Amino acid sequence: MYGILEGTGFEVIEPEFATLFAGHIRVERLWSGARWCEGPAWFPAGRYLIWSDIPNNRMMRWDETDGSVSVFRPASNNSNGNTVDLQGRLVTCEHLARRVTRTEHDGSIRVLADSYDGKPLNSPNDVVVKSDGSIWFTDPFYGIASDYEGDQSPVEQDGCHVYRIDPSDGGIRRVADDFAQPNGLAFCPQERFLYVSDTGASHQPDGPAHIRRFAVAEDGQLTGGEVFANCTNGLFDGFRVDRDGRIWTSARDGVHCYTPDGTLIGKVLIPEIVANVTFGGPKRNRLFICGTTSLYSVYVFANGADRPV
Ligand code: MG
Repeated sequence: MYGILEGTGFEVIEPEFATLFAGHIRVERLWSGARWCEGPAWFPAGRYLIWSDIPNNRMMRWDETDGSVSVFRPASNNSNGNTVDLQGRLVTCEHLARRVTRTEHDGSIRVLADSYDGKPLNSPNDVVVKSDGSIWFTDPFYGIASDYEGDQSPVEQDGCHVYRIDPSDGGIRRVADDFAQPNGLAFCPQERFLYVSDTGASHQPDGPAHIRRFAVAEDGQLTGGEVFANCTNGLFDGFRVDRDGRIWTSARDGVHCYTPDGTLIGKVLIPEIVANVTFGGPKRNRLFICGTTSLYSVYVFANGADRPV
């Protein structure tokens, strides 16, 4: 696809952002036909991208070798966030089954987390893997708030929290309990910090619409949690961090780019609401963007962190 896609482009707010693209680079719409896209995850060995079409209860696959798109997994339990673990396996948040799973090398699906303190999780939303193999996920109630993205069900946890699955014994620990609706999450390149978004404004008019930053101890304890950035247009849902520590985050009008000190330096404008992004391609310099009904991509002069964040 060549030429200018209407409603797209780069918006420079601070001069640094102008160094992150070339003027002739265009946003491409790779595919359209979903109801609500989230959870892009890049598989370098297979050169494909997996993502979720939540209300249509399916996972899709875009193949870099020929640009084709196919259904990767029908009846996906209204999957949402996906990531790739240290062994190249798919890790998935499922609204309908209210769990986090891992797809093993033989294709079988193993449950990693479906309860805490003897009660079902709400509806795991997004997930990342740290370099020590621990798996971190958020658990807002979006997937059980209606029948649209799962089964409408009561919340049985005492709120919406952030959890960590221990790599040694699979134990689940609650690591943050002061969120309204924890949503996207990602580590900075050195993993000294964990960023977590709160999209509580979706259900409370004066609720949070921000990303918070926590310091991460070796044992997984979090401290701090100050607000890193407030969203200026819509909500921060999912986001990723590049090797220089910049945050590329979803928002209503596209992808917003922040420097590690919390400065909004520019945007990639997208004509639909953006929910999640990830870096992919052999050099991890191609940003894949889940925007409502469509999958978009754009090359940038930045590279996603090498770890599967
Ligand atoms: Mg999300």
